[in-house]
Amino acid sequence: MTDCLFCKIAKGEIPSEIVYEDEKVVVFKDINPQAPVHLLLIPREHIPSADDINEENSYLIGHIFLVAKRLAEEEKLDQGYRIVNNCKDHGGQTVDHIHFHLLAGRQLLWPPG
Ligand code: 5GP
Ligand code: ZN
Repeated sequence: MTDCLFCKIAKGEIPSEIVYEDEKVVVFKDINPQAPVHLLLIPREHIPSADDINEENSYLIGHIFLVAKRLAEEEKLDQGYRIVNNCKDHGGQTVDHIHFHLLAGRQLLWPPG
């Protein structure tokens, strides 16, 4: 999608602090971190939201979770972490390219607001 912020970040057209990338996913630091570790994991493919996951693209989601787990190992997040997806308006989604927040480095609260 040409007018999508995260597509542009994935293509390197908008700068970001990329910490990992491969042919399927890009991981970069959130511009407004909510925890000492706050990464965003996105597929390169433009999938608008979790509501748009289907049989054809769901392998990307599994890959994102595998990358998240590997990054958590590398970052030594032994005390745990949280992976969050906000879906559409009531979920609090503000960027319409599916993304998963990886949050860690402090005790996270539950339930969310
Ligand atoms: P959402 O609210 O859609 O779940 O999450 C969107 C996230 O993207 C927010 O945490 C926000 O801080 C982050 N974000 C928005 N614009 C940018 C940007 O230009 N660069 C980076 N690195 N993060 C962004
Ligand atoms: Zn996009």
